[in-house]
Amino acid sequence: MPELPEVEVTRRRLAPAWIGRRITRVVTGPPSYFFLTRPDLLAARLRGRVTTDLTRHGKYLLAAFDDGSRLLCHLGMTGQLFTCTSAEARRWLGVDPHVHLALALRDPAGARSSLLFRDVRKFGKVQWLAPGVTAERLAKMGPDALRITPRALHEALAQRGIPIKTALLDQSVLAGVGNIYADEALFLAAVPPTRPARTLSLAECETLVRSLRRVLQAAIRAGGSTISDFRGADGAPGSYQDNHRVYGRPGLPCPTCGTPIARVVLAQRSTHFCPRCQR
Ligand SMILES: [Zn+2]
Repeated sequence: MPELPEVEVTRRRLAPAWIGRRITRVVTGPPSYFFLTRPDLLAARLRGRVTTDLTRHGKYLLAAFDDGSRLLCHLGMTGQLFTCTSAEARRWLGVDPHVHLALALRDPAGARSSLLFRDVRKFGKVQWLAPGVTAERLAKMGPDALRITPRALHEALAQRGIPIKTALLDQSVLAGVGNIYADEALFLAAVPPTRPARTLSLAECETLVRSLRRVLQAAIRAGGSTISDFRGADGAPGSYQDNHRVYGRPGLPCPTCGTPIARVVLAQRSTHFCPRCQR
């Protein structure tokens, strides 16, 4: 499942290919739960718009347009957003039933390209937002994991008796962290994943915020982690999975002390940690 780094990698690759270009044609798949905005309405709203910005909050991407409207995109479990040539887009649309949205783009010099949103399992989402409208999904979210301050994290955790690992996965606490990077950040911060969230001191929250940034930024630099179906916008797999210190390594030696990495299940999620370094 794409987490913050994979979505940020996608954003950085897409931005130069999308911003400043006009959407000249929109092709959609049939109505499905992928479309929070009906496909015919979505097509009508997007046609003719020039993209002015592409930002990210947590695992969501937000494209802004010249009329003040925006498009919210979520990659779900298997979503891929990528640009290609118009000829490649025609080939995709001809043979692949998993392309749900295709935008034909034209830059100011007249050069054409396409942007495709492909999703095999359809847990991805697109929603058109009228000018000034805030997406309910974003309003419920905590600060982005790369921008949260230690104090804000400390305050959000103060009310929660749940394990810190579970709290980090709660998108209303902070947005963008999933299973992999929660395990990795807790290892770097030397905090056991089972610790009640509200027992973390402000100093520990400072260490944890630093660890989160370190892990997320290293993953962005590596192009994300390739787990199951994630590919960057150019189709290239990420390589951060080779740097995982605890995630997916149960029984293997801790890179710091050699103790076998332990695995427990918290909130139905597999959780990996070093029982010696994280005490
Ligand atoms: Zn260890």
